[in-house]
Amino acid sequence: MNRIKSFFKAGSPALKYKWCYFALAVIGIASIWLDLAYAEVNRALFSNIDSITFQMAIRIVSTFGLIIAAQYIIGFLDNCISTYFNESVVYAMRRELLKRIEHLPLEYFDNNHSGKIINLFFSQLETVKDFVVSDLQALIRLPLSFLIISGYLFTVHPLLGFTAVFSSVLQPLSNFVFRKNYESSCDDVRITTNNIFSVMQEVIQGVREVKINQIEDYFDRKMGALQKCGVRQNLRIAILSTIRWIIKELPTKIGYLAGIGASVYLIIKGDIGAGDLMVFITLLSKVSEPFNGITSVISNLQSALSSADDLIKLINEPAENYDSGECGILPIEKIEFINVDFSYTVKDEENEDEMLTKKVPVIHDLNFEIPVGKTIALVGPSGSGKSTVIRLMYGFYRTDSGKITINGRNIEEYNTKVLRSVMSVVSQDIFMFDGTVRENLVLGREDISEEKLMEALQYSESYDFVMNLPDGLETNLGERGIKVSQGQKQRLSIARAILRQSLLSEAGVLILDEPTSSLDVETEYNFQQGIEKWAKNCTKIVIAHRLTTIRNADYIVFLEDGYAVEQGTPSELLSKTDSKFREYWQKQFVFNEDDK
Ligand code: ATP
Repeated sequence: MNRIKSFFKAGSPALKYKWCYFALAVIGIASIWLDLAYAEVNRALFSNIDSITFQMAIRIVSTFGLIIAAQYIIGFLDNCISTYFNESVVYAMRRELLKRIEHLPLEYFDNNHSGKIINLFFSQLETVKDFVVSDLQALIRLPLSFLIISGYLFTVHPLLGFTAVFSSVLQPLSNFVFRKNYESSCDDVRITTNNIFSVMQEVIQGVREVKINQIEDYFDRKMGALQKCGVRQNLRIAILSTIRWIIKELPTKIGYLAGIGASVYLIIKGDIGAGDLMVFITLLSKVSEPFNGITSVISNLQSALSSADDLIKLINEPAENYDSGECGILPIEKIEFINVDFSYTVKDEENEDEMLTKKVPVIHDLNFEIPVGKTIALVGPSGSGKSTVIRLMYGFYRTDSGKITINGRNIEEYNTKVLRSVMSVVSQDIFMFDGTVRENLVLGREDISEEKLMEALQYSESYDFVMNLPDGLETNLGERGIKVSQGQKQRLSIARAILRQSLLSEAGVLILDEPTSSLDVETEYNFQQGIEKWAKNCTKIVIAHRLTTIRNADYIVFLEDGYAVEQGTPSELLSKTDSKFREYWQKQFVFNEDDK
């Protein structure tokens, strides 16, 4: 039941276009009326076939002509409104889905391949749209059509009406034949399609790695295997569908033969005329059509529920706290990590069920306070959990136990948007959008002046290189910022953080996760000088392997395997003889000396 609810929730944007359901229902009724008129003219023709006059023939032919013209007009309107309805709903659904995806916790993205997520926007979403647009509309039109046309046939002769209705009501039986096999085949096709999207995504995004490592054949083989699998699965669906279709059609064919037999009997008895037989022949298929339609609606719902499985699961995923929660976060007076334990949830690869997950503990009993207005450095070997601490602060993941508090309140109680609005980050994974330098820095905010933009470029050491780009600030950076170097991207991401921070003045938290790892020594030095000026009184959290980056820190937390093994001021830690931080510091010093 929950699945069906989520299915309709995914299709709920269709409700904005209720008038289309109404308009299409009116068109459907008009079309039924024209079918009856057509049958009536047929009856008039065949009832008078022996005594027909020239004038009668002209009248009948022109009536046929008018009916056909009206059918064209109605068909045209039907097509236009249906297309408008279909396209409006599909775009509205994509928009809603994108919003929903943006509000999902990072855990979802950790465990679902982006290729699979993109597939949701196309085949899976189209399946739901087809159902809510076409099938729901048919559910209004088809019963009406059935009642009107079968009622009309009963007025011709009850036996003919009964034959038509009886043969039609048998049709839904086909729905129960091979149902389970059909559903599981649809599931298989969905999984194969997801895998195809995932491989395509990997190749396109990792095209350089593919070329460097010469693994084109490997991916070709992978696609070949998926291709074979997909063809086999679709063939199976086609065979099952055909068997189901034959079973569905059989009662109509038998009904047709029985109806002809009954009509001939009634004509011989003198109960009906040739015109009535013609009405029966014309309308029999119109009685079975609604049943065919209803059968399709039921089977479409089955296959749509199964083919849109990932979409339904996504709708059921709990979203982040974007619309509720406490908004009063400023001014920040205290930030604390209190007994924080955290595990990543990952797919259990050892288990065949692709939905099973397991927990991987990463942070253990973490306690520290971030001094407001000062600089704290998170130091430790690779994989010790430094970036994870930042992700937790951003509320990307929930702690297993313990809490992170701002001004004494658990960050989970704050509105997610508000919480993130007080932080700006220069992260290790720099992402540039496909747009100009300006667009990548301003990020849609209209309150950023040209002066602030220039200032951010200066402080981030980006000004010279940006001005030397072919179109300066208007130069397009390409997908993922492919047209600039890693170090340049890093400088732009610093400029981005400066602009964001400038909106908060000194109230926010500036996070620098390996901010200078791709910069040369001179640029790094200039950046360090700059940061001392523009973010002098900001609360700063710095992560760096290079100890030069953290030499101005007021407080240091040394992490090892997710444990805060040491913390204190740099002088406190360096003065202890058995200090791990001191050992770490000295090792780097030795390496630097060796390099000279
Ligand atoms: P580095 O200095 O190399 O950037 P780090 O100290 O920042 O490392 P984290 O990125 O926080 O380390 O990773 C800590 C641990 O968590 C690592 O063992 C890593 O494999 C694991 N990890 C990180 N991200 C995820 C994730 N999304 N899912 C599962 N495990 C993860």
